[in-house]
Amino acid sequence: MKKVILVTGASSGIGKATALQLIEEGHTVYGLARRVENMQDLIAAGGKAMSMDVTVHNQVKAVISEILKKEQRIDVLVNNAGFAVYGAIEDVSYDDAKRQFEVNMFGLAEVTKAVLPTMRSQQSGKIINISSVGGKIYSPLGAWYHATKHALEGWSDCLRIEVKQFGIDVVIVEPGAIKTEFGEVMAENFARSEHSVYAPLAHNMMNAVKSTYETKGQSSPPTVIADVISKAVKSPKPKTRYSAGKMAAQTLFFRKWFSDRFFDKTIMNMISKRA
Ligand code: NDP
Repeated sequence: MKKVILVTGASSGIGKATALQLIEEGHTVYGLARRVENMQDLIAAGGKAMSMDVTVHNQVKAVISEILKKEQRIDVLVNNAGFAVYGAIEDVSYDDAKRQFEVNMFGLAEVTKAVLPTMRSQQSGKIINISSVGGKIYSPLGAWYHATKHALEGWSDCLRIEVKQFGIDVVIVEPGAIKTEFGEVMAENFARSEHSVYAPLAHNMMNAVKSTYETKGQSSPPTVIADVISKAVKSPKPKTRYSAGKMAAQTLFFRKWFSDRFFDKTIMNMISKRA
């Protein structure tokens, strides 16, 4: 059945791959991001693109109501827009930490709140939140990013049991390492700790991130996550969580079954091996 689907962060990476796949599958897809110029391929493929910054709440409301005027319904929201702030806790300013939460958590919450009344009145809908394996695990110098994704995991679980009564499904997707602009943005972040006592760790992390995202075979293409999202869209009873992509299964396995101390050692070893 043809669905009306909104994908945030559709100007790049996972969001773009997802929007293109869902257009190909015959849905009415709105790509939403700040860089509309980077969504021309969605329009060429038969989709729609609108400028939306998830942190500008009035804009979020206006965009959703414009879509509703045209479509009269919203079946699926893919909350994908996000980025990573990296750097030692001592080196990241509160302004940067707050910006991280504004995009990855409060922006996502605002888009969700803007579509919920419609989904409630339809008595149907799916909200697919792109978390990360980083919503379950942790890495050094990633405190603020992991804080947003761990928060998103708990927030999504609460939302799921609140809105089930209205026929709305909430799905969490936990990607592993996926080759997108994300790795480049993340690697630039370590400059924050370049001249601090954390410089050696920042140097190792930067090299590990570069090796993960730049070495062939160390990260998966974004279509791997687009496939999972498409599966959740199609399923009459989607799983509460999906994980996919390079390193996702291994890291989640270690986190689930081994102690904190063991995981600490494992993650630090992985970083120094790749540095
Ligand atoms: P990209 O950097 O390629 O894409 C990020 C997208 O988010 C862009 O389309 C960008 O659009 C959008 N975005 C960022 N800030 C805002 C904002 N304020 N308002 C609206 N849109 C915004 O990264 P990915 O595709 O990799 O990331 C997508 C999601 O996947 C993120 O939530 C990320 O945390 C998650 N993830 C990624 C992993 C990876 O290895 N790549 C691993 C685990 C999770 P624009 O700049 O045009 O606004």
